[in-house]
Parts: sequence; structure tokens; C-alpha cells
Amino acid sequence: MTSYARAQQQLRERIRGTWAQHPLYIDEIIRPGLTENQIKAIRQASQQTEDTGLTHYLAIVPGLLTMGYGDWAKFTSDFAFDMHQESGEKQTLVLFSEGETSARSFAYLVTDNGPVVPTGAPELMKSSSDDFISVELAVPYYLQVLVAAAKGTEPPQAPDFDTRDVGDRDEDYIERFGLDNSDPDTLVFGATAVAALGATLWLLHRRHRYSWRSELTTKPELVTSHKLKKAVTEAAAPIPEPDHPDDDTWALHDRGRRIQDALAALTAAHPDWAESVDFAHRNGVFVLVALDRWLRRQLRRRSSRVEDEPRFCFLFPHHRKDIEDHVLKQSGRSLTVGLCADCRQELATGHDPERLMVPKRPGSTRAVPYFQRDDAYALSGFGSFQPLDEAVLDEMSPQRSAAVGRSR
Ligand SMILES: [Zn+2]
Repeated sequence: MTSYARAQQQLRERIRGTWAQHPLYIDEIIRPGLTENQIKAIRQASQQTEDTGLTHYLAIVPGLLTMGYGDWAKFTSDFAFDMHQESGEKQTLVLFSEGETSARSFAYLVTDNGPVVPTGAPELMKSSSDDFISVELAVPYYLQVLVAAAKGTEPPQAPDFDTRDVGDRDEDYIERFGLDNSDPDTLVFGATAVAALGATLWLLHRRHRYSWRSELTTKPELVTSHKLKKAVTEAAAPIPEPDHPDDDTWALHDRGRRIQDALAALTAAHPDWAESVDFAHRNGVFVLVALDRWLRRQLRRRSSRVEDEPRFCFLFPHHRKDIEDHVLKQSGRSLTVGLCADCRQELATGHDPERLMVPKRPGSTRAVPYFQRDDAYALSGFGSFQPLDEAVLDEMSPQRSAAVGRSR
């Protein structure tokens, strides 16, 4: 363990010990450096937050940031989520603030979905002259922003802060200027608008958690991240003949040919599959390529152990984590589909997991879940109802379509 990791671990234990008793932790290293006014302002802000009935945790900590910002963000957000789970509440407010300057504050509104951070939070309290707002103003402000976000009300105005002459660091801002100094002419706190914007975006973010419902899917992009173009070329190579031919292996070999044909049919029917606004094609290629790779591994394998056929999440096929059968109930009907662990968890907690959203019909900007169309992807459910290769061959290959007719 590095000394930095050890210092973080020790800090975490100290904070946890205090939070088990009450919500306000002020680190012993920096407490002597804070003025009475500062401590009073912090205590009052904590008390006011408690009075709202919401559960909060507040830690005033020394600056540990010299070792890297990303690490600290992860540390505080993980910690915030732990405290939320401990609190057992619907929402938990967690604020970490550096005591000396509040150069960095990490404010989290935590729900079962995880911690939400105001957009641009680390910059939120920075003034136009690059000074940072002091802890006795930052802490009450952040707590009010968190309370507003939790209650869905308007965020407070950012505090006025004159950074032209903050005095030396021994002097606190309240003592020097008083809190009521709000003559706009003297203000250079240019971040007020930015702060209000950050808080608004944050609220919008919460309100639009389900924005995927009305938008066409645009990520993950899959094409470069999974090298799909290269994989399509590789899948055109002949399917290897089995070393030890038997019925099972020949059945696998035939399946391999069908997957290969399906991939050829899909990319011929939709040559723009990699760029199309319809992400179903990309996901279709992704699934067929995964099946092709799996199948070639089986034909090459030395042992008799056969790997299970890959399965894909019905709601979003790129989800691959622990797919299990799940009965979806909707408007009186029930449907057994394969769902990933994350989507099952989301449903269990009453949320709507994200779905693959595609144009209602070609050229349409109206987004619908892919399974509401009646194309190969919907008929297959990316493997939930029938193998995708079969559905694609039935729907997209010219020969098959001619033979089967379009009269299903
Ligand atoms: Zn899923």
C-alpha cells in the first residue's frame, strides 16, 4: 500500500468513526487552523440541514489533493455511496470540503442509483480571479444546493464573494467583510452564474435520468471499441472443418455457416450499418460477431468441454453480465427474456433500465424500443426468442425471403 493510500485509509476510518455518532466531522489536523466564525458557520449549516429532515454527512478535511484529483473523486464518491447504504434512507447528502480554502468540495446527492454530482462541481466555487471561496461560505452553500436538489426546489444563489482582497489566510471572510456585503459593484465573483448553471444542469440531469426514453440510442458506439469492421472481414473466412468430426461438431459447423451467411445478409441489406442512426444494425453485427467468434473457438477446441453459447441482454444486447431468464410483465402479458444482472437489479428497485432505442421506421426521428418494430431484431429479441442468425436470414437474405415469402 502506498503512503497516500494508507493516509486515505486512515482518514476514512477517522471520518467513519465520527459519522457513526453525528454527521459533522472536522479533521483534527485542520481544526486548530479554523477560526471560531468558520467553525460556527459550519456547525450552523450542518444543523440547518439536519432540521430539514434529510440525512447528511459533512466532512471538513485537509488538502490531500496533491496526489491526484481522480483518486480523491473516487474515494469520496465510493465513501458517499457506502454512507447512503448505511443510512437506509431514500436520499443521502454527503459533502467533503477542504478546510483551508474549499478549493475542492465534493458534494453528492446519493440514491440507490449511486451518487449524483453537480455538473462542474469542482469548479463551482472558483471565482473569476482564480481564488477559491472560503469554507465558511462554501459549506452552507453546498449543503443548500444539496437540499434543493433532494427536494427538487430551486438552488440557492451562490454567495457573494469579493476576491480582490481576501487578506491573509489567518483572517476569515466573515470577520473581514461581514456576510451582508452584497453591493454588486464590488463583486468580482464571476462564478455566480456558472454556479447557478451548474446546479440547474444537475437538477435537469436528475429530471432527465430517463431521457433515453425519447432519444435515439447513440452509444455505446461498438464499431471501434469492438473492432467490428475487422471482425466482419474475419467472419467471412471459411469455417474450419472439425478435427474430430461427429454429429455435434458438424451441427456446430452448420450453425457457423448460418451465422456467416446472416452476417453477410445483414451487411449487404444495410451497408451503412456502422454509421446508421439505427443502432439496431450495429448491435446486430455485434451479436453475430460474438457468435462467430464463440463458434470458431468451439471448432478449434482440443478438450471436450463446450463453452456455453453467448447470451445477450434483451433490453440492450451489449450488456453481457450474467444473463439469466427473466419474466417481463407488461400490460397483462408476460414474456420470458434474457436479462443482464444490471437490468434485473434496476427492475427490482423499480427503475426503468435503458433500452436500445431505434427510429420507429426508416428515416423517422421518433425513437421506439427496438422490440416494438417487427424486423429481424424484434423477432429474435437478440436471442431471447430465436437465434439472431435465423431471424436475420429469414428477414434479410434475398434467397430465403423469396422462398419463405413475406406472408408471415
Ligand atoms: Zn441489460
